[in-house]
Amino acid sequence: MKVSVDRGVCYGSAECAHRAPSVFAFEDGYGVVRPGQEGAGDDPQVREAAEKCPSQAVVLTE
Ligand code: SF4
Repeated sequence: MKVSVDRGVCYGSAECAHRAPSVFAFEDGYGVVRPGQEGAGDDPQVREAAEKCPSQAVVLTE
C-alpha cells in the first residue's frame, strides 16, 4: 500500500514521525513521508501511525 499525508488535514502533532521515523519526518510544521518511502503503507508502524494520527491525515491507498 501507499502512504501519504494530507496537509490540508494535518495539524502538526508530529506523532507519525515519532511512531515510524524511518518513513515519516516532521518538516515546516507538518508530517511528511520521506522521499522513497511512499510505498511503505504495509509497514505495521505506518499502519499504526495512520490509526493513531489525531486528525486522520495519514492516508493509506492501494
Ligand atoms: S500524526 Fe497526523 S496530525 Fe500529527 S504530524 Fe503526523 S500526519 Fe500530521
